[in-house]
Amino acid sequence: MGSTPAQAEAVETPDVLIVGTGFAGLGMAMKLLDAGHSDFVILEKADGVGGTWRENTYPGCACDVASVMYSYSFAPNRSWSRMYAAQPEILDYIEHVVEARGVGAHIRFNTEATSYEFDEDSDRWTVRTRSGQEYRPRIVVLAHGALHQPNIPDLPGMGRFKGTMFHSAQWDHSVDLTGKRVAVVGTGSSAAQFIPEIAGTAAHVDVFQRNAHWVLPKADRPLKDFERKLFKALPFVQQLYRLTAYWTHEVPVLAFLNPKFVKLLELASRRMLAKQVTDPLLRAQLTPDYKIGCKRILLTNDYYPALQRPDVDLITSPIAEFTKTGLTTADGKSHEADVVILATGFSTDNRCATEHIVGRDGMTIQEAWRDGMTAHLGTTVAGFPNMFMLMGPNSGGGAQSILFVIEAQLHYIVECLRMMRTRRASRLEVRAEVQRAFNSRLHRRLAGSVWNSGGCHSWFLDDKGQNRQSWPGTGTSYWRATRRPDPLAFNLTSNAGKRPLRVVPQPTDSK
Ligand code: NAP
Repeated sequence: MGSTPAQAEAVETPDVLIVGTGFAGLGMAMKLLDAGHSDFVILEKADGVGGTWRENTYPGCACDVASVMYSYSFAPNRSWSRMYAAQPEILDYIEHVVEARGVGAHIRFNTEATSYEFDEDSDRWTVRTRSGQEYRPRIVVLAHGALHQPNIPDLPGMGRFKGTMFHSAQWDHSVDLTGKRVAVVGTGSSAAQFIPEIAGTAAHVDVFQRNAHWVLPKADRPLKDFERKLFKALPFVQQLYRLTAYWTHEVPVLAFLNPKFVKLLELASRRMLAKQVTDPLLRAQLTPDYKIGCKRILLTNDYYPALQRPDVDLITSPIAEFTKTGLTTADGKSHEADVVILATGFSTDNRCATEHIVGRDGMTIQEAWRDGMTAHLGTTVAGFPNMFMLMGPNSGGGAQSILFVIEAQLHYIVECLRMMRTRRASRLEVRAEVQRAFNSRLHRRLAGSVWNSGGCHSWFLDDKGQNRQSWPGTGTSYWRATRRPDPLAFNLTSNAGKRPLRVVPQPTDSK
């Protein structure tokens, strides 16, 4: 599949260059093929497809969105083994779709894009890779994901620790945890999935919790043989499952946007806590002090039981420092550890912070995002013509399956390309004033949401407390907003004489 950098030395001029082979980048490739475009390449820094599902291999890694909804609508998998698939099965699915759809030949593996510069004369991008290969595509689609830079906290004395330490997204499978004392820092979605898996293998697990997370049951179970047969014989049955999953994710968003309605969800979570955790002290430690939904809810049935094992301790006193042999906490206690696992999430503040992306008039992405990440509909950024993002700022972070959001964006991008073609435009750039107006409305709507006002600090918020992840509505509303690109939102020009293609009113607020 694909060629290596050494084989491809000449400058390549594909029409479209996609970066990343996670669900987003691969989906883009499939939608381009469906629309009759085959002149594209996909750059992938690693040696395999799958993005986050290739990188996260920690024990128990699984999806907290039902499999029927966490797959492409246009490539349903009739053979899912469970309601919520585990990482190996999701990766298998991705690899299978790549094969079935003939995307592999377009992928350049072990090829990391390191710089992107827009050339105003040709209206093309110059994209360079770490190995020196150069591409000059007309269109760039950045699909390198929102959650892939591990957040390594800077805790006092970390360098002093003599044991083994790794991040959950970089699981070191060469380390046998059997009989070891393990310290886990963080209690988010990743930790809640692997703690039940390593408890019992490790001699002892200390779980360091900074803030409790809200937990709800996961309606997971193996899919029965007859269900899989039904999916194959009567595909609309699987569609019904998908529809159910869709609305299960959609309805809570209405409460997240109007936090006075989250009480019902909190009640369900408190009931689960009361049922699963008998010790009143532990129950109090596991009760969050912010509104449900403010941080991503943990869907798990085995996290609370794992915390109650005799060989697992929940530690809520803040970490004071690392020592050579473990950690100490603010209450003065020492916690010996052979292995420390950082389940501390990902850096999400500015996902292009270290990227060399230079748009129109020499503007860098860092300059454009000086005050925080911002885009129009999470896909285009003023000043960066002919560049699209998938899962860009404020297009996810709700409750709907990110696959649904991605598919809406794929459709939107294909429509933008169609608009460029029909209007004979060589350049498409979102108007700065449209982007500004769009974002001021978006942030006004987010202000009252549970993500902003629920009393927590999650990865949805940047260091200034501004929400850079969430779409302020349901998945359905995002789908509606991305059905048809509004030509008035863009400057569409042709490089034949650098003239605007049509005279349009100057909208201040077109969407
Ligand atoms: P996360 O939800 O951001 O959780 C990070 C944890 O580390 C939190 O408990 C946080 O505490 C703690 N932490 C961070 N810095 C710390 C520090 N300096 N000292 C002590 N504790 C610290 O990260 P994650 O669990 O990797 O999940 C990230 C996202 O990935 C999820 O929200 C989800 O969207 C996605 N994910 C999805 C699935 C899935 O099933 N689809 C599975 C795993 C991950 P505080 O809460 O106090 O900040």
